[in-house]
Amino acid sequence: MKIETRSVHSGRSVDPSTKAIVPPIYLSTTFERNVNGDYPAGYSYTRDNNPNRESLEKCITDLENGFGAAAFSSGSAAAMSVFQTLSPGDHLIAPDDLYHGNRKLIKLFAKWEITFSFIDMTSPKNVEKAITKNTKLIWIETPSNPMLKITDLQSISQISHAYGAVTICDNTWGTPVLQQPFKFGIDLILHATTKYLGGHSDVLGGIVISKEDSEIFKNIKQMQKSGGAVPSPFECWLVLRGIQTLPLRIRYQSESAFKIAEFLNKHPCISKVYYPGLPTHPGHQTAANQMKLYGGMISFQINGSETDAMNVAAGTRVFTRATSLGGTESLIEHRASVEGADSKTPVNLLRLSIGLEHPDDLITDLSNVLKKCVK
Ligand SMILES: *Cc1c(COP(=O)(O)O)cnc(C)c1O
Repeated sequence: MKIETRSVHSGRSVDPSTKAIVPPIYLSTTFERNVNGDYPAGYSYTRDNNPNRESLEKCITDLENGFGAAAFSSGSAAAMSVFQTLSPGDHLIAPDDLYHGNRKLIKLFAKWEITFSFIDMTSPKNVEKAITKNTKLIWIETPSNPMLKITDLQSISQISHAYGAVTICDNTWGTPVLQQPFKFGIDLILHATTKYLGGHSDVLGGIVISKEDSEIFKNIKQMQKSGGAVPSPFECWLVLRGIQTLPLRIRYQSESAFKIAEFLNKHPCISKVYYPGLPTHPGHQTAANQMKLYGGMISFQINGSETDAMNVAAGTRVFTRATSLGGTESLIEHRASVEGADSKTPVNLLRLSIGLEHPDDLITDLSNVLKKCVK
């Protein structure tokens, strides 16, 4: 069935005891055993498994066409479970403009003697050059945050497999609707469900999906259950509810983002627009090969200073100044000051998360605030 249908129904069923259409939230932390010691419904203790978490994992596994999934309390907890599968001496390769939270997280693992290379992954040759005999994991993020660089999933997974490494794609910006990394040979997918999957800026969560019943996935599942960074039943319920409208939301957001990127691209106050849908974007062709639409995120550099950029963010009326992305409301963010001291993001860059408002209103809002910089 198509992804719209699966988004509505996967992992959900009518509650057998009450016939409720909407799944109940199972707050119970513990489940009764049979007299012989069995667990009749397969649940014993909610850190190990819970009906709401199981529904969510089933649904996202189905949307990504994977083998199984492990849900976590945040995207970062999900990423941590993957880094925790590494052993001292292992090497990992990640993009030079990796989501800054994951960059900070990887660096924490230095004291466990994990080594890492942050490289420009837009060229597969760079990946091949960076591989060592200890490379165990290649981390891809495409489109990347905040520069919207595009990485060729197929080429990197081929290189990775030739050297026996595991590839993971952070698909938070792509979502299973726009991009299906397993089709291109990727082994693991990560989502911050906080973003498009939850979709309403009201729940934190993360998930790792595996293409196969692999050793690394068993390790991740173990880390989920024993480490305990699990989402609550209510959080799982909220993400599962959000997913029902995911295909509709992300398509509309992508269409609006396209129009807004074109508007920005023609504007005299803007020096550079980063949006993979624009034919001038260096990753456009690769994006066209591996994505259905180009997503709801845009970055741009203002023709001016950090203060000029801050002033644009200060002047919008429909866009809200805030970090994060993937919600129903459009957000504008000065990225460098959020990322902090070691940020490589240009100081005159602003990032937009396009929401569900009408694109004409969003363009008018930007047009009004940009008028002030036309000299
Ligand atoms: C937000 C985000 C994360 C981290 O998710 P949290 O739920 O905030 O921990 C990881 N990757 C990307 C691309 C993100 O945008």
